[in-house]
Order: sequence, then C-alpha cells, then structure tokens
Amino acid sequence: MKALKKVPKSKIVYAFSPKHKPAEHVKPGEEISLELEDAFGGQVRDEKIAIEKLDWSKVNGATGPIYIEGAEPHDTIAVRILDVKVADKGIIAVIPKQGALKEKPFKAKIKVVPISGGYAHFEREKVKVNPMIGTIGVAPKNGEQPTGTLGRHGGNMDVKEITKGATLYLPVFTKGALFAAGDLHAVQADGEACVSAIEVAGEVTLTFDVLKNLSISWPILETEDCYAVLTCGDSLDEACSLAVEEAVKALMREHGWSFEEAYMFTSLAVDLKINQVVDPKKGVRAVIPKRYVSIESFHVGDFRH
Ligand code: CA
Repeated sequence: MKALKKVPKSKIVYAFSPKHKPAEHVKPGEEISLELEDAFGGQVRDEKIAIEKLDWSKVNGATGPIYIEGAEPHDTIAVRILDVKVADKGIIAVIPKQGALKEKPFKAKIKVVPISGGYAHFEREKVKVNPMIGTIGVAPKNGEQPTGTLGRHGGNMDVKEITKGATLYLPVFTKGALFAAGDLHAVQADGEACVSAIEVAGEVTLTFDVLKNLSISWPILETEDCYAVLTCGDSLDEACSLAVEEAVKALMREHGWSFEEAYMFTSLAVDLKINQVVDPKKGVRAVIPKRYVSIESFHVGDFRH
C-alpha cells in the first residue's frame, strides 16, 4: 500500500494566493495528512512570554498549499475531513483592544491549557474538546488574502462545526484550487468572544473531490444533518443578510418557490448562527436541515466569480 502523503508544518503560508508554488499535489479521493502549527506559530511555550514579544508575522499561518488535480475555476472542491488530532496542550490569550469587549480596559494574559481524556482543563473547570479547523480555504482569483482573514474563498472562518466527519465545499478560483489549512482549535464556542480559542498544534487528514457541475458563491459546510452557508461581511448585519439571501436562493432553486415563499420558509426552518465576531469581517452561517435542500441547491448556474 502506498504511504499516506504527509505535508509537514514547515510548509506554511501566511496568505492564500494563486501565485504560490504547491507544497504537494493530490488526486481526487487520495488521502493526505497535514501537520498544523498552532495559530501563535509555536512561539508560546509557557505563560511567561509577553504578548508584545511575539513575532506577529508568524501568527495564523496555514499548511499548504495543496494542488488538487483536475480542479479548475468555477468547479467546487469537496474537502472531506476524515480526522482532526490535537496536541496535549493548547494556548488561549486575551489581548487588549481585541475581541468582543475590545473597548474595555483589561490586561494581556496567556493561559496554557492541558488537554487530556477528551477535555480541556481550565482552572477547576473542564470543557469537552471539539477539535476544529479555524482557517481553511483556497486561493482567491486575484491578489492574495492573508490567512488571518476570511471571504468567499474560505480562510479564517472559525466555524466550530468544521471538524471530523464534516465536508466543506469551496469554490475554485484558480487551477488546482491551492488549498491550505491552519489555526486548529481544541474547542471554541460560537463567537470566539475573547479573540482566541484553545489554539493548538495537530494534524488533519483529508480527501478532496472535484465537482465539475457545481459552482457555488460561498463556502458550504455539510454536517450529518444540515447544510450551512458560510458568509461574512463588514458587520454582523451584512453577514446575516448575505447568509439569508443564499438560503432563500437555495430554497427557491430546490422547490421552485417564489422569493416570498422561500423568504417565509427561511424564517421557519433556517437557523442563523454566529461563527466569529472578532475579525474585521464578521462571520455567520445559515443552517438548513438536509431534508429541505441538497448540495445542488447551491449551484449558481452560469454565475462567474
Ligand atoms: Ca481563527
């Protein structure tokens, strides 16, 4: 049996870019594992380090990029997340002027959080781990997107359901897609209120499929029960509006409903959830139960990115 392809964490990028040279090539269906550094770039080894001393150019990197054979602009790739493994300790930090309470006065603080037995241990409390991939995406059409931000190409979306067993559909803008992933979290709640989660190193195992007859305008996440459209905007209002619009369009395509009918139904069956509120681009998801839509419902036809 051929050995599983493995990409070391030294193959790190700090932007999604169509100009990057691939770190590895994969065929559709071929398993690959990526070693991921934590979002602090491995710089925090204990709680004594001063936040100001960190080299911020080494923060929020992503392993890759991976060239997916056969992927071309206007296709969609399906990223199947077979496994997400995290190290036995992670780091959480609060940073002045960051997070949902950035207007409040508070001090920088770093906490090293041990992870064992399926739990992250925080002071005397413990939180069940839910290892998830914070940053995951492909190269945009033009220019480059820093790995710290998010958009139609994916990126730093911080969706707590991007985890083992899920499939993430991403639009393809450049030949080979040039996929990368980083910013693993041992656990993160919706919102990521304080600006960091339990940032941790680890390894993810993935396969990719190329869907030639599907063209989507935003990343779509498939979980066991639901499809979720992952949108973002300069404000939560804008992000919500975009998410609802995508849900309405999917319901119209699937059921042949008018805008008004699909808009009504969205109010009954589609949950809007916050991904994160701590990036300049806020992220939300519109979550639609699978009984009402399929992945083809998100096909935007002759839409050109
Ligand atoms: Ca993040």
